[in-house]
Amino acid sequence: MEKVSMDTIVSFCKRRGFAYPGSAIYGGFANSYTYGPYGVELKKNIKDLWWRIFVQERRDIVGIDSDIILHPRTWEASGHVAGFNDQMVDCKKCRARLRADHLVEEQLKIECEGLADVDITKLMKENKIKCPKCGSMEFTDVRKFNLMFQTQMAKTGEEGTAYLRPETAQAMFLEFKNIVDTMRVKLPFGIAQIGRAFRNEITPGNFIFRRLEFEQMEIEYFIEEKDWEKIFIQWQTSMKNWLTLIGLSSAKCHNYEHPKEKLSHYSKRTVDIEYDFPFGRKELYGLAYRTDFDLSQHEKFSGETLRIHDEASGEKILPHVIEPTWGVDRTVLAVLCDGYREEKLEDDTDRVVMQIVPVLAPVKVAVLPLLKKDGLPEKAQEVFNRVTVFGNCEYDESGSIGKRYRRQDEIGTPVCVTVDHDSLTDDSVTIRDRDTMKQERVKIELLVSVLKKKYFV
Ligand code: ATP
Repeated sequence: MEKVSMDTIVSFCKRRGFAYPGSAIYGGFANSYTYGPYGVELKKNIKDLWWRIFVQERRDIVGIDSDIILHPRTWEASGHVAGFNDQMVDCKKCRARLRADHLVEEQLKIECEGLADVDITKLMKENKIKCPKCGSMEFTDVRKFNLMFQTQMAKTGEEGTAYLRPETAQAMFLEFKNIVDTMRVKLPFGIAQIGRAFRNEITPGNFIFRRLEFEQMEIEYFIEEKDWEKIFIQWQTSMKNWLTLIGLSSAKCHNYEHPKEKLSHYSKRTVDIEYDFPFGRKELYGLAYRTDFDLSQHEKFSGETLRIHDEASGEKILPHVIEPTWGVDRTVLAVLCDGYREEKLEDDTDRVVMQIVPVLAPVKVAVLPLLKKDGLPEKAQEVFNRVTVFGNCEYDESGSIGKRYRRQDEIGTPVCVTVDHDSLTDDSVTIRDRDTMKQERVKIELLVSVLKKKYFV
């Protein structure tokens, strides 16, 4: 199949209940989306799988769930108040608000990450950059724009200013001491969290790729400094295994090593995992060695000691940290783009099939009585009650069986179970595989174990 377009994915998501444009009855609200019934299942499956793999199945990682609004000093310590800025310009003609670094990057093919603001201002002025909306070359000066959403607490004055967290990570540093004091952890160990983050992006877009509010799955993995290179590589392997687990084609996933001179101030090594989205190769996940920057900043700003006892040297040390981070929304998008296929079948009909791995499928099993009468719905209900052990299942009795199969193919249901007249006498059903469309007769009493073996190991 040719490369899927974003338009196809966006309209598919709306048509099939994965994601709707937000606030549509009020005429829409720019760049807001609501995950529909299938989207929310897919998203939940991604988060549950991640939590299982990285928290529940590991002895060295524990989870937390912090507030979104943390003490405002957090963001001074982390550097977000002073430095979490993007360079913004307005087109003087059409008033479009744009990111100067993106314009320079796209039109001059110069990577801007790490470039000083003055360089970008100079490039904007020297070179003939065009407004992508109207073609004008007249822009306002480049201004710094802080991406944190501010909010005012009930208390008055400066003191009352707080921020919606722009990342989930900082809470793991704030709770580091609590975890050490209560959980008997020993280096190396990690603290994980899944949750919403907010960024006042100047140019949100590409559907759910760049949103103003999104979800992250993050781990702060605390280590001894001497081990960082070894553990960084271990995390690269773990992240690669995750890509395989969620079924992304390896040919579309790439490592991008940030050049040394362009690393963020806190990082000694950063490698992004990029994915070939329909609109280009873009960041999906990130992995950074953040040294002891965060813990030492929070020590400085809070006045608390965050050092822990090192058994080997007998001294108090400040651990270093490796941070793997995953975007949930970008995972949803990558999984949908990767799985979407339009196929021409042997009988010359077309079908859309969403080939996603069963563990992520929004509907695990669809149960379809051949007819809406003759006791078939009752028998099908019995079968339905059995297969819900696998998670969200669907019961559908309306329309031709062919159409019902197509509907399930489109939303990625790995297997359909059909109940027919013979089922009433032989206590068997037909299972149909989404990808091969092959059918097989199975005894109802063996159904759960057969499906488990074939799809949900
Ligand atoms: P980008 O360069 O695309 O803006 P970033 O480097 O700022 O991303 P990080 O700060 O590393 O992103 O955030 C960690 C992860 O959170 C990213 O790898 C991505 O998956 C996700 N993410 C970041 N910003 C957004 C956003 N605006 N919308 C959706 N997901 C996001």
